[in-house]
Amino acid sequence: MSSATPSPRAAIGGIPAYVPGRPPAARPGVTTYKLSSNENPHAPLPGVLEAAVAAAATMNRYPDMGCTALYAALAERLDVPVSHLAAGTGSVAVLYHLLQAFCEAGDEVVYAWRSFEAYPIAVAVTGAVSVQVPLTADARHDLDAMAAAITDRTKVVVVCSPNNPTGPAVRRAELEAFLATVPPHVVVVLDEAYREFVRDEDPFDGVELYRSRPNVVAMRTFAKAYGLAGFRVGYAVAAEPIAAAVRACALPFGVSSVAQAAAVESLRREAELLERVEGIVAERARVREALLDQGWAVPDAQGNFVWLPLGERTVAFAKAAEEAGVMVRPFAGDGARVSIGEPAGNDVLLKVAAEHAD
Ligand SMILES: *Cc1c(COP(=O)(O)O)cnc(C)c1O
Repeated sequence: MSSATPSPRAAIGGIPAYVPGRPPAARPGVTTYKLSSNENPHAPLPGVLEAAVAAAATMNRYPDMGCTALYAALAERLDVPVSHLAAGTGSVAVLYHLLQAFCEAGDEVVYAWRSFEAYPIAVAVTGAVSVQVPLTADARHDLDAMAAAITDRTKVVVVCSPNNPTGPAVRRAELEAFLATVPPHVVVVLDEAYREFVRDEDPFDGVELYRSRPNVVAMRTFAKAYGLAGFRVGYAVAAEPIAAAVRACALPFGVSSVAQAAAVESLRREAELLERVEGIVAERARVREALLDQGWAVPDAQGNFVWLPLGERTVAFAKAAEEAGVMVRPFAGDGARVSIGEPAGNDVLLKVAAEHAD
Protein backbone atom coordinates (compact mmCIF):
# COMPACT_ATOMS: atom_id res chain seq x y z
CA MET A 1 0.00 0.00 0.00
CA SER A 2 1.30 3.48 -0.78
CA SER A 3 1.67 6.03 2.00
CA ALA A 4 -0.80 8.87 2.23
CA THR A 5 1.61 11.69 1.39
CA PRO A 6 4.51 11.94 -1.02
CA SER A 7 7.79 11.23 0.73
CA PRO A 8 11.29 11.92 -0.54
CA ARG A 9 14.03 9.27 -0.44
CA ALA A 10 15.07 8.39 3.11
CA ALA A 11 18.52 9.93 2.52
CA ILE A 12 16.95 13.34 1.98
CA GLY A 13 15.73 13.63 5.55
CA GLY A 14 19.30 13.28 6.80
CA ILE A 15 20.76 16.11 4.76
CA PRO A 16 22.37 18.72 7.00
CA ALA A 17 21.55 22.36 6.24
CA TYR A 18 24.20 24.50 4.57
CA VAL A 19 24.75 27.53 6.76
CA PRO A 20 25.80 30.43 4.54
CA GLY A 21 28.02 33.16 5.91
CA ARG A 22 25.63 35.88 7.04
CA PRO A 23 25.82 39.36 5.59
CA PRO A 24 26.04 42.20 8.10
CA ALA A 25 22.84 44.04 9.00
CA ALA A 26 22.89 47.71 8.02
CA ARG A 27 23.91 49.70 11.09
CA PRO A 28 23.79 53.50 11.08
CA GLY A 29 27.20 54.89 11.96
CA VAL A 30 29.01 51.51 11.86
CA THR A 31 30.99 50.39 8.81
CA THR A 32 30.35 46.68 8.35
CA TYR A 33 32.44 43.96 6.73
CA LYS A 34 31.36 40.54 5.49
CA LEU A 35 34.23 38.23 6.37
CA SER A 36 31.98 35.18 6.60
CA SER A 37 31.99 33.68 3.07
CA ASN A 38 35.60 33.73 1.82
CA GLU A 39 34.60 36.12 -0.91
CA ASN A 40 37.03 38.30 -2.82
CA PRO A 41 36.77 41.82 -1.35
CA HIS A 42 37.67 43.52 -4.65
CA ALA A 43 34.95 44.94 -6.90
CA PRO A 44 34.81 43.29 -10.33
CA LEU A 45 37.60 44.17 -12.75
CA PRO A 46 36.15 46.75 -15.16
CA GLY A 47 36.85 44.65 -18.28
CA VAL A 48 35.26 41.56 -16.74
CA LEU A 49 32.22 43.54 -15.72
CA GLU A 50 31.93 44.92 -19.28
CA ALA A 51 32.09 41.40 -20.74
CA ALA A 52 29.33 40.27 -18.39
CA VAL A 53 27.16 43.29 -19.18
CA ALA A 54 27.62 42.67 -22.90
CA ALA A 55 26.59 39.03 -22.45
CA ALA A 56 23.46 40.13 -20.60
CA ALA A 57 22.24 41.60 -23.89
CA THR A 58 21.39 38.06 -25.05
CA MET A 59 19.49 37.01 -21.94
CA ASN A 60 16.52 35.97 -24.05
CA ARG A 61 18.69 33.17 -25.50
CA TYR A 62 19.85 30.01 -23.77
CA PRO A 63 23.56 29.95 -22.96
CA ASP A 64 26.01 27.89 -24.99
CA MET A 65 25.42 24.49 -23.41
CA GLY A 66 28.79 23.27 -24.59
CA CYS A 67 30.60 26.17 -22.86
CA THR A 68 32.63 26.30 -26.09
CA ALA A 69 34.55 29.53 -25.50
CA LEU A 70 35.19 28.74 -21.83
CA TYR A 71 36.40 25.21 -22.55
CA ALA A 72 38.63 26.50 -25.35
CA ALA A 73 40.15 29.13 -23.06
CA LEU A 74 40.68 26.65 -20.21
CA ALA A 75 42.10 24.00 -22.53
CA GLU A 76 44.66 26.47 -23.81
CA ARG A 77 45.47 27.93 -20.40
CA LEU A 78 45.90 24.50 -18.74
CA ASP A 79 47.19 22.60 -21.77
CA VAL A 80 44.52 19.91 -21.51
CA PRO A 81 42.07 18.49 -24.07
CA VAL A 82 38.59 20.02 -24.06
CA SER A 83 37.19 16.51 -23.45
CA HIS A 84 38.91 16.50 -20.04
CA LEU A 85 36.91 19.52 -18.81
CA ALA A 86 33.55 19.62 -17.05
CA ALA A 87 32.08 22.94 -15.96
CA GLY A 88 29.24 23.58 -13.55
CA THR A 89 27.50 26.29 -11.58
CA GLY A 90 30.36 26.61 -9.12
CA SER A 91 32.74 23.81 -8.23
CA VAL A 92 30.24 22.72 -5.59
CA ALA A 93 27.85 21.80 -8.40
CA VAL A 94 30.66 19.97 -10.18
CA LEU A 95 31.21 17.94 -7.01
CA TYR A 96 27.49 17.15 -6.79
CA HIS A 97 27.55 15.91 -10.38
CA LEU A 98 30.65 13.82 -9.77
CA LEU A 99 29.24 12.18 -6.65
CA GLN A 100 25.98 11.54 -8.46
CA ALA A 101 27.93 9.91 -11.27
CA PHE A 102 30.02 7.62 -9.05
CA CYS A 103 28.05 6.88 -5.88
CA GLU A 104 25.11 4.67 -5.13
CA ALA A 105 23.28 4.31 -1.81
CA GLY A 106 25.58 2.74 0.74
CA ASP A 107 28.81 3.63 -1.04
CA GLU A 108 31.39 5.51 0.98
CA VAL A 109 33.02 8.90 0.41
CA VAL A 110 36.12 9.64 2.48
CA TYR A 111 37.15 13.17 3.37
CA ALA A 112 38.82 15.05 6.22
CA TRP A 113 36.81 16.67 8.98
CA ARG A 114 36.39 19.45 9.81
CA SER A 115 36.40 20.51 6.19
CA PHE A 116 34.09 22.17 3.68
CA GLU A 117 30.51 21.99 4.90
CA ALA A 118 29.17 21.29 1.41
CA TYR A 119 30.77 17.81 1.44
CA PRO A 120 28.43 16.05 3.88
CA ILE A 121 25.46 17.59 2.08
CA ALA A 122 26.60 16.58 -1.39
CA VAL A 123 27.34 13.04 -0.20
CA ALA A 124 24.02 12.71 1.61
CA VAL A 125 22.09 13.75 -1.51
CA THR A 126 23.41 10.68 -3.33
CA GLY A 127 22.50 8.32 -0.50
CA ALA A 128 26.16 7.48 0.01
CA VAL A 129 27.81 7.50 3.43
CA SER A 130 30.31 10.11 4.62
CA VAL A 131 33.47 8.74 6.22
CA GLN A 132 34.98 11.72 8.02
CA VAL A 133 38.62 11.43 9.02
CA PRO A 134 39.65 13.81 11.82
CA LEU A 135 42.26 16.46 11.05
CA THR A 136 45.60 16.31 12.86
CA ALA A 137 46.22 18.49 15.93
CA ASP A 138 47.60 21.24 13.67
CA ALA A 139 44.43 21.22 11.54
CA ARG A 140 45.95 19.40 8.57
CA HIS A 141 44.68 16.45 6.56
CA ASP A 142 45.74 13.13 8.12
CA LEU A 143 46.47 11.38 4.82
CA ASP A 144 47.64 8.14 6.47
CA ALA A 145 44.36 7.88 8.34
CA MET A 146 42.44 8.76 5.16
CA ALA A 147 44.25 6.00 3.26
CA ALA A 148 43.40 3.58 6.08
CA ALA A 149 39.73 4.64 5.90
CA ILE A 150 39.37 3.44 2.29
CA THR A 151 37.32 0.24 2.07
CA ASP A 152 35.72 -1.91 -0.63
CA ARG A 153 32.77 0.49 -0.50
CA THR A 154 34.79 3.65 -1.09
CA LYS A 155 34.02 5.33 -4.39
CA VAL A 156 35.42 8.81 -3.90
CA VAL A 157 37.99 10.53 -1.69
CA VAL A 158 37.97 14.32 -1.44
CA VAL A 159 41.12 16.22 -0.49
CA CYS A 160 40.46 19.87 0.34
CA SER A 161 43.61 21.95 -0.01
CA PRO A 162 43.91 24.53 1.43
CA ASN A 163 41.41 23.11 3.89
CA ASN A 164 38.31 25.20 4.39
CA PRO A 165 37.84 26.29 7.17
CA THR A 166 41.14 25.54 8.96
CA GLY A 167 43.66 26.82 6.36
CA PRO A 168 46.63 24.42 5.90
CA ALA A 169 47.44 23.05 2.45
CA VAL A 170 48.39 19.48 1.60
CA ARG A 171 51.94 19.28 0.27
CA ARG A 172 52.98 17.69 -3.02
CA ALA A 173 55.23 14.98 -1.57
CA GLU A 174 52.68 13.74 0.96
CA LEU A 175 49.89 13.88 -1.61
CA GLU A 176 51.87 11.89 -4.18
CA ALA A 177 52.65 9.26 -1.54
CA PHE A 178 48.96 9.12 -0.64
CA LEU A 179 47.83 8.85 -4.27
CA ALA A 180 50.17 5.90 -4.74
CA THR A 181 48.24 3.99 -2.05
CA VAL A 182 44.71 4.73 -3.32
CA PRO A 183 43.21 1.84 -5.31
CA PRO A 184 42.95 2.83 -8.99
CA HIS A 185 39.15 2.46 -9.09
CA VAL A 186 38.66 5.10 -6.36
CA VAL A 187 38.19 8.66 -7.62
CA VAL A 188 40.31 11.24 -5.81
CA VAL A 189 38.95 14.78 -6.00
CA LEU A 190 41.50 17.50 -5.30
CA ASP A 191 39.45 20.52 -4.27
CA GLU A 192 41.72 23.40 -5.22
CA ALA A 193 39.25 26.23 -4.62
CA TYR A 194 41.97 28.37 -3.02
CA ARG A 195 45.01 27.23 -4.99
CA GLU A 196 45.94 30.75 -6.16
CA PHE A 197 46.43 31.81 -2.54
CA VAL A 198 48.88 29.03 -1.64
CA ARG A 199 52.42 30.14 -0.75
CA ASP A 200 53.51 26.85 0.81
CA GLU A 201 56.99 25.38 0.42
CA ASP A 202 55.92 22.32 -1.62
CA PRO A 203 52.54 23.03 -3.23
CA PHE A 204 50.85 20.52 -5.51
CA ASP A 205 49.20 21.28 -8.82
CA GLY A 206 46.13 19.13 -9.37
CA VAL A 207 46.28 19.57 -13.13
CA GLU A 208 49.85 18.23 -13.18
CA LEU A 209 48.87 15.31 -10.94
CA TYR A 210 45.85 14.28 -13.02
CA ARG A 211 47.91 13.96 -16.24
CA SER A 212 49.45 10.64 -15.24
CA ARG A 213 46.64 9.46 -12.94
CA PRO A 214 43.33 8.40 -14.51
CA ASN A 215 41.52 8.48 -11.12
CA VAL A 216 42.54 12.01 -10.07
CA VAL A 217 40.28 15.05 -10.54
CA ALA A 218 41.42 18.66 -10.15
CA MET A 219 38.45 20.77 -9.11
CA ARG A 220 38.72 24.55 -9.45
CA THR A 221 36.52 27.60 -9.25
CA PHE A 222 36.24 31.17 -10.44
CA ALA A 223 34.54 32.11 -7.16
CA LYS A 224 37.51 33.00 -4.98
CA ALA A 225 40.72 34.32 -6.57
CA TYR A 226 38.85 35.40 -9.72
CA GLY A 227 36.10 37.15 -7.80
CA LEU A 228 33.09 35.59 -9.57
CA ALA A 229 31.35 34.02 -6.54
CA GLY A 230 27.99 35.50 -7.53
CA PHE A 231 28.09 34.12 -11.08
CA ARG A 232 28.56 30.44 -10.17
CA VAL A 233 31.18 28.87 -12.38
CA GLY A 234 33.70 26.17 -11.57
CA TYR A 235 35.16 23.16 -13.35
CA ALA A 236 36.84 19.81 -13.07
CA VAL A 237 39.86 18.57 -15.01
CA ALA A 238 40.03 14.79 -15.27
CA ALA A 239 40.60 11.92 -17.65
CA GLU A 240 37.89 11.67 -20.25
CA PRO A 241 35.77 8.91 -18.66
CA ILE A 242 35.43 10.91 -15.44
CA ALA A 243 34.94 14.27 -17.15
CA ALA A 244 32.31 12.77 -19.45
CA ALA A 245 30.44 11.25 -16.49
CA VAL A 246 30.40 14.60 -14.72
CA ARG A 247 29.17 16.37 -17.86
CA ALA A 248 26.45 13.74 -18.26
CA CYS A 249 25.08 14.60 -14.80
CA ALA A 250 25.21 18.37 -15.28
CA LEU A 251 22.02 20.39 -15.57
CA PRO A 252 21.35 21.42 -19.16
CA PHE A 253 22.35 25.07 -19.73
CA GLY A 254 23.56 25.36 -16.12
CA VAL A 255 26.37 27.87 -16.56
CA SER A 256 24.82 31.15 -17.69
CA SER A 257 25.98 33.26 -20.62
CA VAL A 258 27.10 36.03 -18.27
CA ALA A 259 29.09 33.58 -16.17
CA GLN A 260 30.74 32.04 -19.23
CA ALA A 261 31.64 35.46 -20.63
CA ALA A 262 32.98 36.70 -17.29
CA ALA A 263 35.05 33.55 -16.79
CA VAL A 264 36.57 33.77 -20.28
CA GLU A 265 37.43 37.44 -19.77
CA SER A 266 38.88 36.65 -16.32
CA LEU A 267 41.27 34.16 -17.89
CA ARG A 268 42.28 36.83 -20.38
CA ARG A 269 42.97 39.24 -17.50
CA GLU A 270 44.43 36.65 -15.18
CA ALA A 271 47.61 38.64 -14.49
CA GLU A 272 45.61 41.58 -13.14
CA LEU A 273 43.46 39.30 -11.01
CA LEU A 274 46.45 37.45 -9.59
CA GLU A 275 48.01 40.80 -8.65
CA ARG A 276 44.98 41.34 -6.42
CA VAL A 277 45.54 37.90 -4.95
CA GLU A 278 49.06 39.03 -3.98
CA GLY A 279 47.52 41.84 -1.97
CA ILE A 280 45.16 39.44 -0.19
CA VAL A 281 48.04 37.07 0.55
CA ALA A 282 50.01 39.98 2.07
CA GLU A 283 47.00 40.93 4.21
CA ARG A 284 46.65 37.29 5.27
CA ALA A 285 50.24 37.31 6.50
CA ARG A 286 49.68 40.57 8.37
CA VAL A 287 46.47 39.32 10.02
CA ARG A 288 47.89 35.92 10.98
CA GLU A 289 51.09 37.46 12.41
CA ALA A 290 49.05 39.89 14.50
CA LEU A 291 46.83 37.09 15.78
CA LEU A 292 49.86 34.95 16.66
CA ASP A 293 51.31 37.96 18.53
CA GLN A 294 48.05 38.21 20.45
CA GLY A 295 48.51 34.58 21.50
CA TRP A 296 46.04 32.87 19.17
CA ALA A 297 46.94 29.39 17.91
CA VAL A 298 46.06 30.13 14.28
CA PRO A 299 46.92 27.19 12.00
CA ASP A 300 48.96 27.74 8.86
CA ALA A 301 46.73 29.85 6.58
CA GLN A 302 47.05 29.09 2.86
CA GLY A 303 43.59 30.23 1.70
CA ASN A 304 41.98 33.68 1.85
CA PHE A 305 40.93 33.12 5.46
CA VAL A 306 42.23 32.37 8.95
CA TRP A 307 40.91 29.96 11.57
CA LEU A 308 40.46 30.88 15.22
CA PRO A 309 40.21 27.74 17.38
CA LEU A 310 37.75 29.23 19.88
CA GLY A 311 36.08 26.05 21.13
CA GLU A 312 33.18 26.86 23.42
CA ARG A 313 33.81 30.60 23.03
CA THR A 314 33.07 30.55 19.30
CA VAL A 315 29.50 31.85 19.32
CA ALA A 316 30.26 34.60 21.84
CA PHE A 317 33.22 35.72 19.74
CA ALA A 318 31.13 35.83 16.56
CA LYS A 319 28.58 37.95 18.37
CA ALA A 320 31.21 40.38 19.63
CA ALA A 321 32.67 40.63 16.12
CA GLU A 322 29.22 41.32 14.71
CA GLU A 323 28.69 44.09 17.25
CA ALA A 324 31.96 45.63 16.10
CA GLY A 325 30.77 45.43 12.47
CA VAL A 326 32.50 42.25 11.29
CA MET A 327 30.66 39.10 10.27
CA VAL A 328 32.68 35.90 10.71
CA ARG A 329 31.66 32.28 10.09
CA PRO A 330 31.26 30.50 13.44
CA PHE A 331 31.25 26.70 13.80
CA ALA A 332 29.74 26.38 17.28
CA GLY A 333 31.94 24.58 19.78
CA ASP A 334 34.87 24.44 17.38
CA GLY A 335 36.08 27.73 15.96
CA ALA A 336 35.49 30.67 13.66
CA ARG A 337 36.65 31.16 10.10
CA VAL A 338 37.46 34.73 9.17
CA SER A 339 37.94 35.74 5.55
CA ILE A 340 40.67 38.18 4.63
CA GLY A 341 38.86 41.33 3.55
CA GLU A 342 39.66 44.99 3.13
CA PRO A 343 42.47 46.12 5.48
CA ALA A 344 40.03 48.29 7.47
CA GLY A 345 37.76 45.29 8.09
CA ASN A 346 40.73 43.11 9.02
CA ASP A 347 41.76 45.79 11.52
CA VAL A 348 38.35 45.68 13.21
CA LEU A 349 38.65 41.90 13.44
CA LEU A 350 42.11 42.22 15.02
CA LYS A 351 40.74 44.65 17.58
CA VAL A 352 37.94 42.27 18.57
CA ALA A 353 40.41 39.37 18.66
CA ALA A 354 42.75 41.32 20.95
CA GLU A 355 39.89 41.82 23.39
CA HIS A 356 39.22 38.07 23.41
CA ALA A 357 42.80 36.79 23.49
CA ASP A 358 43.85 34.71 26.52
C1 LIG B 1 34.30 28.17 -2.06
C2 LIG B 1 34.68 26.75 -2.17
C3 LIG B 1 34.41 26.02 -3.33
C4 LIG B 1 33.82 26.62 -4.56
O1 LIG B 1 32.59 27.01 -4.47
P1 LIG B 1 31.79 27.50 -5.77
O2 LIG B 1 31.40 28.87 -5.44
O3 LIG B 1 30.67 26.54 -5.86
O4 LIG B 1 32.70 27.40 -6.94
C5 LIG B 1 34.80 24.71 -3.40
N1 LIG B 1 35.43 24.13 -2.39
C6 LIG B 1 35.73 24.79 -1.27
C7 LIG B 1 36.47 24.10 -0.21
C8 LIG B 1 35.34 26.11 -1.12
O5 LIG B 1 35.62 26.75 0.01
